[in-house]
Amino acid sequence: MPFVITDPCIGTKDSACVDVCPVDCIHPRKDEPEFATSSMLYIHPDECIDCGACVPACPVAAIYDSPDSTPASQKALIEANAVYRVGDSSAVEKAEAMVKAHMSSRADLMAVAPTERAAAHAR
Ligand code: SF4
Repeated sequence: MPFVITDPCIGTKDSACVDVCPVDCIHPRKDEPEFATSSMLYIHPDECIDCGACVPACPVAAIYDSPDSTPASQKALIEANAVYRVGDSSAVEKAEAMVKAHMSSRADLMAVAPTERAAAHAR
């Protein structure tokens, strides 16, 4: 089961997870053109090897260890992680549209600072 990046990454994009991922499955990296306009980072579900290295690296606790453990408030972002493909503008657009929809529908969570947002997921 792949790891999933959720909404504390929006407005954060720290990239510490990218640096520790042994299989380079988190995108966009800072050296990829999509980084500047991306709302968040995404984990490629077929490439993730479930090692768990990214979880402690994330300063805002944005990463869950499987779709099943991802809170209900974040379910839309599971699909966004799944469809995102760096270098594929159509896939990037689809994933970003899902993130924007999540941001609109969960304005309550977006109003919480990224560092506190994960704690608000269970509410
Ligand atoms: Fe990369 Fe491991 Fe995190 Fe999967 S669990 S995204 S392989 S660091």
